[in-house]
Amino acid sequence: MNNTKIDWATRSWNPVTGCLHGCPYCYARKIAERFGTLFKGPQPEDEGLTFLPDEPERFYELDEPVRDASGKAEPFPANFYPTLHRYRLGDPAKMKKPQRIFVGSMADLFGAWVPDAWIKAVFDACQKAPQHTYLFLTKNPQRYYDLLNAGELPALDNFWYGSTVTKEGAEFFSGPIRYHSFLSVEPLLEPLNAGLGSFGAAEWIIVGAMTGPDSKDHQPRREWVENIVEAAGITHAPVFMKGNLAGVWGPDLIQDHPKGMVWPEVV
Ligand code: SF4
Repeated sequence: MNNTKIDWATRSWNPVTGCLHGCPYCYARKIAERFGTLFKGPQPEDEGLTFLPDEPERFYELDEPVRDASGKAEPFPANFYPTLHRYRLGDPAKMKKPQRIFVGSMADLFGAWVPDAWIKAVFDACQKAPQHTYLFLTKNPQRYYDLLNAGELPALDNFWYGSTVTKEGAEFFSGPIRYHSFLSVEPLLEPLNAGLGSFGAAEWIIVGAMTGPDSKDHQPRREWVENIVEAAGITHAPVFMKGNLAGVWGPDLIQDHPKGMVWPEVV
């Protein structure tokens, strides 16, 4: 469990890492491949990585951390290949003070390739630490619906199901009323042309710009952000502007959150 610079969460937690979506702006892949150790040293079977050979891609499950020569746990022993770090599942329960936890900042936990058992293991771990608010986020919201239809998607006050939306008409999860849902419009790379009904029943709209070395030429226009704020206003969905919008919006960023969401102070 890490402190996070992500301003809408107080912690990020990565019981699963790796992602196969291949977004060109992915910061997570860059980090994982830079600090990852797969292929740099002994091969996985020598290092305690369990490679799942029946999967179409390389998948790994780790019961224990892989450690470097000094005993420090490697954060990305399998680079950016999908990996379940089973030893991290107990982390939320160790933290007594309530947190707003972004689950899977270095993965898409709901990618089509993720085994159901991994998602279930993460949900179970969250339910063992109900003091926290869990913010899930995916670019594959269909998986939420699949889990819902299978009776495997918990409807809990502290579970928030987020969908990343970066272009007009993108699909998102806006499930039955007993489920909390939110949208993350980040990076905002083009106008959404949002209006009545565009955000469904989403209870929270997070907006942010692209960051990183190539981001200078991909900043949103102010009117694109204004359009999102107006569309969110139609359904009274609070808007949270990430700090990286300050250059576009100015210092008075709107940083609201849903009333029903436990919003513990950052610690
Ligand atoms: S969904 Fe997220 S983690 Fe996956 S490739 Fe895209 S930016 Fe990276």
